[in-house]
Amino acid sequence: MHKIFIAASAATIMVVFFYVSYILRISLRRDYSRLLTAFLLTIPLSPATNYSVKALLDELIKLIISNQSGIYQLITMTYAPLISEPIKLLPLLLPFLYLRINRENFVSFGMALGVGFGVGEIWLNAFRSSQIPSESYLPIGYVLLGYISEWLMVCLLHGAFTSLALWKLRRRLGWGLAAAMGLHLLAQLPRNLFNLNIGGINRQILRFYMPFHLILFFVLMVLLLTYLRAGKRGLRQIFSGAKIECPECKTSYKRSYWMTHLSTRATEECPHCGAQNTIDFKKKP
Ligand SMILES: [Zn+2]
Repeated sequence: MHKIFIAASAATIMVVFFYVSYILRISLRRDYSRLLTAFLLTIPLSPATNYSVKALLDELIKLIISNQSGIYQLITMTYAPLISEPIKLLPLLLPFLYLRINRENFVSFGMALGVGFGVGEIWLNAFRSSQIPSESYLPIGYVLLGYISEWLMVCLLHGAFTSLALWKLRRRLGWGLAAAMGLHLLAQLPRNLFNLNIGGINRQILRFYMPFHLILFFVLMVLLLTYLRAGKRGLRQIFSGAKIECPECKTSYKRSYWMTHLSTRATEECPHCGAQNTIDFKKKP
């Protein structure tokens, strides 16, 4: 088996493990089956649009302008944001999904749709990379670590963009979608500038900066998801910790950020009486 497919399998397992457990942890049980449907339905969308909508659009544009021109390069930069953001919402054409989304659970659905789409993209990307002979000389450890860390970040980005699109689903879907496309474009900017290769742009610096840009965006999108789910209060609590009242001794204590948002543990110890209090992640902190 080509090593890129081993890396893609590993990345898929990690993405599913982290994000599916995150989605289940913040979601109500009654939404589970719908979230799973949304997740599964978006998996084939990235490869499907790539070989249909995107390919067709590309042919049409090539008829009008030469594929050597700068304008063509500029237009191709917008393919991914303009096509993938609306495509990720395609499963919402099913009323039993669309009607269930509300102000309380839209982040769960945004993450399910975005992460599912990301998983499809992992495999599309792996398939394409397997066609490039030079990549097969890279050592397996390098491919594996690079692939896993990159796709863990990219899949969260997809989930955050789609959550933003769903924020005002019934009143301002257009604006949400536009904002998601804008963020998507910004996330890809250094890579696009690198590919454009306009005179004056230092490609060495761009190549060096690209991974940092992804990490920066990852952090920003974690903050965005926190804001979308728990508002300004949620953002404040990242730094100050949420105030919790112990059900045993009734005194209040501050929960650390790690317990509130990232831990996989479901209990925490009260600093006053030592009671093991269970954390309900479904309640916003
Ligand atoms: Zn206590």
